[in-house]
Amino acid sequence: MAGRIPPAFIDELLARIDIVDLIGQRIALRKAGKDFQARCPFHDERTPSFTVSPDKQFYHCFGCGAHGSAIGFLMEHDRLSFREAVEELAQRAGLPIPTEGEPPRAGPDPGPLYQVLEQAAQLYRQQLRVHPEAGRAVEYLKGRGLTGEIAARYGLGYAPSG
Ligand code: ZN
Repeated sequence: MAGRIPPAFIDELLARIDIVDLIGQRIALRKAGKDFQARCPFHDERTPSFTVSPDKQFYHCFGCGAHGSAIGFLMEHDRLSFREAVEELAQRAGLPIPTEGEPPRAGPDPGPLYQVLEQAAQLYRQQLRVHPEAGRAVEYLKGRGLTGEIAARYGLGYAPSG
């Protein structure tokens, strides 16, 4: 396997990619105010609750809690690994992935860890919406002055006991 992808490259890549173009090539988006809307590709619905924000470069579904960046979308929608998603975006942006020239790493490749963390974050965000006891967590967040939008933006979730 190729070496580690520098985090700074991920940042640069996300800055070059327009998530609206990326998602718009896969599902039909409609302009709604400054965002774009669609019927969510991750759950079954009739009225659109899936939004894509050009400003924040995030997608978010108010129905099922699906949320993430261009990389997260490719991982969830196209079922790519973290590395495959980065490779796809790098190709799209015409950027070579800077892995050569790095000193050999002693430790294991952290790539799969990012993937697992993304999946875990996805689960906790979903639990905040669907878990029977999520109401307590939502009350707590409200008590701290956090809105649903802020919770979505920072990827806050709920880890139920067990
Ligand atoms: Zn959804």
